[in-house]
Amino acid sequence: MNAPPISEEAQAAMHNGYEALLQAHALAEDGLSDAFVDVFTAWWDHYERFIALVAPAFKPECKAGCNNCCQQNPRGISGVELYFIDRLLRDRPDAYAVRARFKRRMKTEGGPCPLLDERGWCSVYAARPVPCRMFFAATPPDWCHPEHPKHQSAVNPHLVPSERHALLLRAISQRLGLGLGLGDLPTDLHGGMVAIEERLARTTE
Ligand code: SF4
Ligand code: SF4
Repeated sequence: MNAPPISEEAQAAMHNGYEALLQAHALAEDGLSDAFVDVFTAWWDHYERFIALVAPAFKPECKAGCNNCCQQNPRGISGVELYFIDRLLRDRPDAYAVRARFKRRMKTEGGPCPLLDERGWCSVYAARPVPCRMFFAATPPDWCHPEHPKHQSAVNPHLVPSERHALLLRAISQRLGLGLGLGDLPTDLHGGMVAIEERLARTTE
C-alpha cells in the first residue's frame, strides 16, 4: 500500500508535537512537574490529530474494542511512556494482578496484553505508547491476530512519527530519569513494565 498523502495540516500537527516534545525535554531538567505532564499530554494530542488527519486515507478497519493487534509484545517504547503507563496502573485495585500477568508474559512471549480490561479494551488507552497508537489495519480485523491464517497477508500501515521524535522521546527519558533509569529500560512493553516495577520497589525499600 502506498503511503497516505500528508496534508499541510497533518504536517503542522506533527510539527506542533515535536515542539511539545522539545518543551518536555527542557522541563525534564527539573523532574516531574505539572508543566511537564501538560506538555507531554499535548504531544499525545498533536500526534492523535496527525493520525486523525492521515488515517482515513487508507480506510482503516480499526474500531473500539478491537484487540487482535494487542496479542503481541509492542516494541520501541520509550522509558517516559512506560512511566506514564505505570503511573496510571499504580492506583488501580487490579495493579497487582496486572503486574503478575506481565511477569508471566515474560516467560511466554505473546498472548493478550495484560493491560486489556475485562471487555477486551485497552485500560490505559489515554497513555498507550507510540507503537500502539501508530498501528492500523486496512484488512479485516481478524487478520491482525498473529495466529490467523491470513495474518501474513494483513496490511497494517504504521503512522510512525519521525526518527527525530523517537530520539527526543529517548532523550526526555534519559533526562527525566526519576531515579528509575528511565533512559535505559527495556523498550518492549512486557520487559519494560516488569523492570520499572522492580526499580520502583528498590526506591521504596
Ligand atoms: S490494528 Fe487490527 S486488531 Fe488492531 S484495532 Fe485495527 S483492525 Fe483492530
Ligand atoms: S497498551 Fe493497550 S493498545 Fe497497547 S497492546 Fe496493550 S492493550 Fe493494546
